[in-house]
Amino acid sequence: MTIHVVGNVCVDTSFRLERLPRPGETLNAAAAGEGAGGKGANQAIAAARTGAAVALWAPVGRDAASERMEALLAAEIPDLRLSRLDRPCDRSVILIDREGENVIVTAAACAEAFDPLAATSLAQTWRPGDMLLMQGNLGAAATSACLKAARAAGLFTILNPSPLPAGPPDLEAVSLLVLNRPEAEALAGEADAERAARRLHAMGADRVVVTLGPAGALVVEGASSLRIPAGAVGAVDASGAGDCFAGTLAGCLAQGAPLADAARLATQAAAIAVGRPGTLASFPSRAELSALTR
Ligand code: ADP
Repeated sequence: MTIHVVGNVCVDTSFRLERLPRPGETLNAAAAGEGAGGKGANQAIAAARTGAAVALWAPVGRDAASERMEALLAAEIPDLRLSRLDRPCDRSVILIDREGENVIVTAAACAEAFDPLAATSLAQTWRPGDMLLMQGNLGAAATSACLKAARAAGLFTILNPSPLPAGPPDLEAVSLLVLNRPEAEALAGEADAERAARRLHAMGADRVVVTLGPAGALVVEGASSLRIPAGAVGAVDASGAGDCFAGTLAGCLAQGAPLADAARLATQAAAIAVGRPGTLASFPSRAELSALTR
């Protein structure tokens, strides 16, 4: 069984600063770096590191930045199905201060150009029992079309609806909704995580996992709900924690783990990521993940 991740790929350029700049100000960074990012790429890599078979479909450009991203991704995901558009590769600039506070700006020409019809041709390679993992970057109509095509093809569908769509999300074809507490509150109009999860279930999602930052995660499945504490960590940089969680969760589920066990491992993996600087750079390696399951 394969996890088909349909999502975005982005060049992440990060600058570490003493403090964030004020409007009109120029600052020298203490360090700068470039890496692969985007929620689609992040979650695909986190899933692949659990040992699951992962195919990443993502729109990229034909520029040098897109080629650099392809080379970085190919080292982790042999099954890359990149679609080349006549647009510049998506990019994010990330400013991080010494406290770990960050500001992010993204240009998403490729993600915005995702054609919902691509979902139909994509679906020809999907097999019943495979999994679809999506995020919110490709736009609401495209995401909904993909989820529906996957459902019709007999796939288990996971949606991490981040960034949130402008309107109400279409959750009818979602087998598992994974989202953080602010997202759950915004979508359900309910501050209490458990009540929000139950409302999201009533809106169409079969199962719901709400991530609660340092408080761990809440798993709501049928009438039961389970709180999973976060892994113990000295938090250094929480960027990408949600992606590490969602990708690891999908990878464990794809290999047959029950939802509660998959969520436990995902909280441990995310705790490792939170304890180190960087987004993808902070995710646990294959060896670290297999040590967690021993
Ligand atoms: P997002 O990154 O999408 O905002 P969360 O902040 O809820 O999502 O974090 C996702 C997961 O990362 C949490 O469910 C938890 O397991 C882990 N996590 C986040 N912050 C911490 C922290 N300070 N200590 C330990 N684990 C954390």
